[in-house]
Amino acid sequence: MPKFMSEDFLLQTRTASVLYHEHAENLPIYDYHCHLPADQIAADRCFENLTQAWLAGDHYKWRAMRTNGIAEKFITGGANDYEKFEKWAQTVPCCLGNPLYHWTHLELKRYFGINKLLSPETAKEIYETCSELLRTPDYSIRSLLRRMNVKLVCTTEGPLDTLEHHKKLREEGFEIKVHTAWRPDKAMAAEDTAELNVFIDKLEEMCDIAIADFESYLEALRERHHYFHENGCRLSDHGIETAYAEEYTANEIEKVFDKIRAGEELNRAEQLKFKSAMMHEFALMDYESDWVQQLHLGALRNNCTRLFKTLGPDIGCDSIGDFEIARPLAKFLDRLDSIESLPKTILYNLNPRDNALLATMIGNFQDGSSPGKIQFGSAWWFLDQKDGIEDQLRALADMGLLSRFVGMLTDSRSFLSYPRHEYFRRILCNMLGGDVEAGLLPNDLALLGKMVEDISFNNARAYFPMELD
Ligand SMILES: [Zn+2]
Repeated sequence: MPKFMSEDFLLQTRTASVLYHEHAENLPIYDYHCHLPADQIAADRCFENLTQAWLAGDHYKWRAMRTNGIAEKFITGGANDYEKFEKWAQTVPCCLGNPLYHWTHLELKRYFGINKLLSPETAKEIYETCSELLRTPDYSIRSLLRRMNVKLVCTTEGPLDTLEHHKKLREEGFEIKVHTAWRPDKAMAAEDTAELNVFIDKLEEMCDIAIADFESYLEALRERHHYFHENGCRLSDHGIETAYAEEYTANEIEKVFDKIRAGEELNRAEQLKFKSAMMHEFALMDYESDWVQQLHLGALRNNCTRLFKTLGPDIGCDSIGDFEIARPLAKFLDRLDSIESLPKTILYNLNPRDNALLATMIGNFQDGSSPGKIQFGSAWWFLDQKDGIEDQLRALADMGLLSRFVGMLTDSRSFLSYPRHEYFRRILCNMLGGDVEAGLLPNDLALLGKMVEDISFNNARAYFPMELD
């Protein structure tokens, strides 16, 4: 019986082990989508303790703690950092089977050299050891990134962000590239016109453009898009339930925009038309700037009113939705393709029922301009676990070209999440190695090894228009 989390963790065949250790393990990390706070990278903050580094802001852990019967006081409330950590340590043994159990122990091992299991018995010792290390310069935020051999990070910012921290990092010549990604969700959030107007007012002030109609709204957004480009942005990202691709006319959108500015509520049809127009316009901006657009599809967000009212969004009350994906997505992409303005695109789905759907959708719009132009993105959020990753890889291999896949990203808010790339690479190597040993793939380690190296690093490097040196 293999030991828990040994050298060959997740690698069930000899070939899988060779592929991982010889072709994946030592490759650097190209993290093209995450939610790390750029200000903290710029400040090169040292965390005060393990709770600050690990539990603050991590809604995956919060959700597990709530499920384990822990009171909110010890999750997001006023309990002190050690009390919160104790409750997390109580929860970890109940996470067996959940990726949090693997992530937790992989993170303790890779960053801190701790091989013990976290439990109430080991909580104090682990907390003290890690917290002490975290307060030293060797564990500052930048050191944590270096420790994991990260070469590039894309954070995620809204159009109103000044990008001052990215500027500072670039001016300083920090050796790890820190780019921003443009996430304009708020600019098309037509469900709440009061909130949308707050956004538009701020945009107006920032761009010094009077936003009186839809055209001037787009002009201001284009100005911000251009500003992002000048400051190194080469990707956009959209968190949406599904793609929006309703029919609309310019006249209809003008009328909807007038209603928004008048603070009137929009009906569902008007909301969808507005979102459709925005999605199309954003994609055109991305195409013109040679950016990659990412669509994160399928989350049903803020489901618990009680927690939304007290804690706001992104606190662990989201789940998998069952939206209609295929038809609007095909229409959205086709509309751009038919005017030769479809940018490179990565599509991520949250509902595992849609794996085959996306794996086949991407094939419709490949155009020979670059390998894997339209990508089926890595298993995300609730699917970022062993089965979810395997299912995504398998669907992509079955229905597309796995060898052209741009691979893993952390999509995390925590600086301690980088072992997720290792986790992904091990699962990839395990799948390929298993297939070799079953006689389904040739036992050609040069061929397979190159494929592993490409998916782990080289493909992303070639795909995204960002330089590493
Ligand atoms: Zn994300």
